[in-house]
Amino acid sequence: MLEKTGVPTPQEIEEAFPSQERLAKGPVAIIECYQNIPCNPCYTACHKEAIKEFEDINDLPQINHDDCNGCGLCIANCPGLAIMVVDSSYSKDEVLIKIPYEFIPLPEEGMIVKGLDRKGKYVCDVKVVKVLKSKTLDRTPIISIAVPRQYMKVIRNFEM
Ligand code: SF4
Ligand code: SF4
Repeated sequence: MLEKTGVPTPQEIEEAFPSQERLAKGPVAIIECYQNIPCNPCYTACHKEAIKEFEDINDLPQINHDDCNGCGLCIANCPGLAIMVVDSSYSKDEVLIKIPYEFIPLPEEGMIVKGLDRKGKYVCDVKVVKVLKSKTLDRTPIISIAVPRQYMKVIRNFEM
């Protein structure tokens, strides 16, 4: 499915997420990297050793969600924009999702923007909570958006 459409299946998305118990504990990285390409900055960026060492540079990343503290270092270092951090402990009704964002202009904190699914389809409005600009030009800005809890596994991007 992914190879034909560029969009992961519901099962692939489900498998990328940790257990409900881990999600409830706080921020955790979700890696949606499905193609064997020569790439490993996610591994080298992770100081918690949550991402296992690659045996081969073409391996898919393997993450131990229990070792991840959701710091987000891997998000900004991934050239494939394949990683986000989800904080399910953010509030009763919302989760906080940190995503890489390569478009300009960047949104302002507090803005209401359009939350999109993995096909780029509008799902619901979401609030920009934080805009983290990179100090170096080679790193991707990270935007934190507050997303209704029921769309935690649906919303993957936004547009203004
Ligand atoms: S969020 Fe931080 S701790 Fe978790 S995998 Fe990424 S770099 Fe490692
Ligand atoms: S850095 Fe990103 S694209 Fe490269 S292997 Fe890791 S998750 Fe995949």
